[in-house]
Amino acid sequence: LVRARGVSKTFGAHRALDGVDLDVSRGEVLCIIGPSGSGKSTLLRCLNQIEKPEAGTIRIDGELAGYRQKGDTLHELDDRAVARQRLACGMVFQRFNLFHHMTVLQNVMEGPVTVLRRRKGEVRAQAQKLLARVGLSEKAGAYPAQLSGGQQQRVAIARALAMQPKLMLFDEPTSALDPELVGEVLGVMRDLAASGMTMIVVTHELGFAREVADRVVFMDAGRIVETGTPGEVLGHPTEQRTRDFIAAVL
Ligand code: ATP
Ligand code: MG
Repeated sequence: LVRARGVSKTFGAHRALDGVDLDVSRGEVLCIIGPSGSGKSTLLRCLNQIEKPEAGTIRIDGELAGYRQKGDTLHELDDRAVARQRLACGMVFQRFNLFHHMTVLQNVMEGPVTVLRRRKGEVRAQAQKLLARVGLSEKAGAYPAQLSGGQQQRVAIARALAMQPKLMLFDEPTSALDPELVGEVLGVMRDLAASGMTMIVVTHELGFAREVADRVVFMDAGRIVETGTPGEVLGHPTEQRTRDFIAAVL
């Protein structure tokens, strides 16, 4: 579903991503771990076309991100076409960026109604199902400020799912939460993984990675240092940098 080749991104003189190759199959759950500044967020942002890499290609479900291919030449896509491609990825960030003047239900309905121009009745029914799925049916009429961080993050997941993405990207979705709220969000993510959703999850929750990931990638200094099953990367890392990182996180 995802095929990235030689993806590089620099900010000024700093190379945030240095030739990253990544493949993710349909239904696969990939966890990305690595130290601060290793390029994890930048990689997700390139996949979602929030950032534009200087080099390399990204294909999502066969479509070349940001370009249209005509014979041997690439034509840059216009903003509208990029916006359409971006719908393939649902994204959940560390900070739950909900619309604060809207209720929970309105938050989940907003994208499908305004962006996808779907009918309100049908969107409402779908939003209610999604809220049930993340365990928040009773909070449909509440405003974000009335919810705990864990509840807000579950709304953010429901809102991303409402756009019916092909894959979900999570960037440290639990690291801004109080410890007692982490479990409820990871639980929703675990259910989502079990439902067959393709997921790329940047996380320091190694327990979650061990239990839920099909594959774990360890990044350092803009590169993928090591990749394998959770048992391999977390249990028996071959690289010293991976060992040092895991020892520091545990
Ligand atoms: P963390 O675990 O702290 O979230 P990360 O692995 O997500 O780290 P990135 O946010 O991808 O790391 O950043 C990689 C490098 O690129 C860092 O050195 C960061 O300072 C730099 N960087 C990221 N975004 C920008 C930007 N918009 N402008 C300048 N430098 C940036
Ligand atoms: Mg980050």
